[in-house]
Amino acid sequence: ASLAKVIDGKAVAKTIRDEITIEVTRMKESIGVVPGLAVILVGDRKDSATYVRNKKKACDSVGIKSFEVCLSEDSSEEEVLKSVSSFNDDPSVHGILVQLPLPSHMVEQNILNAVSIEKDVDGFHPLNIGRLAMRGREPLFVPCTPKGCIELLRRYNVEIKGKRAVVIGRSNIVGMPAALLLQREDATVTIIHSRTKNTEEITREADIIISAVGQPNMVRGSWIKPGAVLIDVGINPVEDLSAPRGYRLVGDICYEEACKVASAITPVPGGVGPMTIAMLLSNTLTSAKRIHNFE
Ligand code: NDP
Repeated sequence: ASLAKVIDGKAVAKTIRDEITIEVTRMKESIGVVPGLAVILVGDRKDSATYVRNKKKACDSVGIKSFEVCLSEDSSEEEVLKSVSSFNDDPSVHGILVQLPLPSHMVEQNILNAVSIEKDVDGFHPLNIGRLAMRGREPLFVPCTPKGCIELLRRYNVEIKGKRAVVIGRSNIVGMPAALLLQREDATVTIIHSRTKNTEEITREADIIISAVGQPNMVRGSWIKPGAVLIDVGINPVEDLSAPRGYRLVGDICYEEACKVASAITPVPGGVGPMTIAMLLSNTLTSAKRIHNFE
């Protein structure tokens, strides 16, 4: 049997970053505006600090200006809201991102609601999500990870219209918007979550699977319809004493088994991960263009 085609998210993300670099330069030269992204980091989670650092690096690489505010773990909700509000008013900022999760004494909703929907490059404002869910409405921004999943399907010419799609996971940031996006693309969508029964029967019907669970190697080869296209969002550390840091990252889908059944599959790492940041840059550019009426 032939092996599945590898969907190379790293390469696609590089292509997209190159496209963005060209547009950022064109914008700067024509109207003198440089797109700007503001990131608010609260607390000292190591993983969050790494994500923020990577986002800054990615901005630098395409010529987007980045702004950063770091607040201490014990800062108040009001202080975070104050930062959000000053970025809302700052004309050199076109995108605002609040790195999640927030410390537990804060109400995430209050802060996400405060981000101007014109600058909501993460697409987490309830108005943007609501518009995503409604027919005939257009969100100003779509959440980056699910948008990256669809972009991979598009760039690999995977037809979505009329197909059976299964999304595993229903989180606000990945699973739920991924299902809405697939539906907008005219797939017939089923959502699987922790209370779903007969999961394997459902996945076996799917032409396209997007998995965003956070369980290493949960989806086995036997769960997959021959020829299906698999997008694995999961990033799960598993112990590996031969790896430099004592662990390595695997997806939700058991790659070794799945690649013998599927027609195409994203690797972990190097699949969806790099696309998420590319979509954030893309959303920031789109925002700057919209705010300045630049085509
Ligand atoms: P959440 O923990 O918020 O959501 C996980 C979802 O999976 C929930 O809806 C949960 O169901 C469901 N679930 C849990 N166990 C099972 C199970 N056994 N069978 C079926 N469904 C199950 O995670 P996120 O959506 O934030 O992230 C998911 C994964 O994606 C993680 O590994 C994360 O690291 C990764 N990720 C990767 C990104 C990237 O850029 N590539 C970006 C964001 C996340 P229920 O709702 O019932 O609890």
